[in-house]
Amino acid sequence: MTSLPSNDALAVMQGICGLSIKWIDFAYIVASIFFIFGIKMLGKVHTARRGNMVSSIGMLIAVLATALYVGIDYTWILAGIVVGSAIGVIAAKRVAMTAMPEMVALFNGFGGLASLLVGWAEYERIMHFPVAEGGDRWAAYLAHAQTEYYFINIVTWLTIWIGGITFTGSMLAYLKLAGKVSGSPVVFKGQKIINALVAGAMILAIVPQCLIVDPSASYFAVVATIVLSLAIGILGVLPIGGGDMPVIISLLNSFSGLAAAAAGFVIGNTVLIVAGCLVGSSGFILTLIMCKAMNRNLYNVLFSGFGAADQTGAKVEGEMKGISVEDAYYVLEAARSVVIIPGYGMAVAQAQHAVKELATRLEENGAEVRYAIHPVAGRMPGHMNVLLAEANVPYEQLVPMDEINASMETVDVALVIGANDVVNPAAVNDPTSPIYGMPIIDAYKARSVFAIKRGKGAGFSGLVNTLYFLEKTRMIYGDAKAVVGELAAAFKEE
Ligand code: NDP
Repeated sequence: MTSLPSNDALAVMQGICGLSIKWIDFAYIVASIFFIFGIKMLGKVHTARRGNMVSSIGMLIAVLATALYVGIDYTWILAGIVVGSAIGVIAAKRVAMTAMPEMVALFNGFGGLASLLVGWAEYERIMHFPVAEGGDRWAAYLAHAQTEYYFINIVTWLTIWIGGITFTGSMLAYLKLAGKVSGSPVVFKGQKIINALVAGAMILAIVPQCLIVDPSASYFAVVATIVLSLAIGILGVLPIGGGDMPVIISLLNSFSGLAAAAAGFVIGNTVLIVAGCLVGSSGFILTLIMCKAMNRNLYNVLFSGFGAADQTGAKVEGEMKGISVEDAYYVLEAARSVVIIPGYGMAVAQAQHAVKELATRLEENGAEVRYAIHPVAGRMPGHMNVLLAEANVPYEQLVPMDEINASMETVDVALVIGANDVVNPAAVNDPTSPIYGMPIIDAYKARSVFAIKRGKGAGFSGLVNTLYFLEKTRMIYGDAKAVVGELAAAFKEE
């Protein structure tokens, strides 16, 4: 069994490589530049992979520079790196594309917990800061840490508070997404009052500590802050469920960044502040983008319990008419222009490779094939882009919603694969519908529509989809991967 190097051995190494603070700060600036460019590159599919790599290099620089602070005790750091890296590598290799939101929830949660522990540890450090008999503990600490009383006080409490909320909120989000507890929104009478009371108690615990009282005087306030922040995390995520989970994951991601930035102020680490701010702001921007794409505001997502009540939407006339794979093939075979509209069902069925295969057959047959990408199709931002990129679908064929809608009337077949809410015309023509105003892919404008799904079930919103009842629509019932595979095979056989 290999053992970790002794602290003495590491101290020698450190003596050899230890950097001065100036060089460490310089390394932090370089790391921050890598982060910023990395995030920018993540915005485009063809540069995303490199963006990930660039950000990782930035993190490596930051970690190495931090490790070269003179006087660091390496034992726990190395143990953390070994255990953490092993868990990270195994988890990242094993995680399925569909389980990515769960993975992100866990990352956020542990980020929040780390920040909470940093804030708590700093509080303990202040309380036990060595001082001569009768000396002023605070004055000694402030002089040593080169900081100011109110500032360090406020950021320490914020770190504990936001870190705690992020930790339990993310853990509950993980349990919901992984199906370990019910994924439905939990709403009960008096919920908002309870939430408001807990939030009020939290403010009462923190504000006086920040502004008036010497925090070292009240250990009770720290414990109360930790307990209340953990409770707020759970209470905040309880009323959220189903397809709203990606929004809360993104918001918690933003919180984990803010907690990290606050922790950076607490320990005076510039790269943590920069990285935390980047995560905090990008997570928040993404949250707002998702809300906008659903035509809902953040308040509605956080507090409405969307999906908790039964909702079916408007009564529809007529019936959903099925069609066999064989008959669908004949129509597709004659089509000159086909738009594939993927949704959550394609992700569940892992049908992306079969879809690419069918698209290739259609193109060989002389049809123009494009993919219509709705910003919130699936269950996480960019879900469809990631899956289709994995199946090597050329990026140019992925057409954003507004662009594809402009030419939908000229499309011979709109092939809806496991998508539901994002093609529901009620969003356009039924002002009483809960999703009225949500931008959709205008599949209903195409000359004909095929919709592949397993049965007559609704989508995430629980609403009836009037698209399926149109005269021009035919349902192809079955698992997306199986049905699309059969359609592609029909082309091969001819
Ligand atoms: P929906 O959840 O509306 O519909 C998915 C459809 O897929 C269902 O109707 C289901 O029908 C079908 N399906 C499920 N499994 C399979 C399978 N194996 N084979 C074939 N079909 C299958 O998904 P959309 O992508 O259309 O919409 C996404 C929803 O999520 C929207 O309401 C959006 O607002 C919400 N959302 C998305 C976010 C994001 O970041 N992407 C963020 C927040 C919310 P059946 O059971 O009959 O098969």
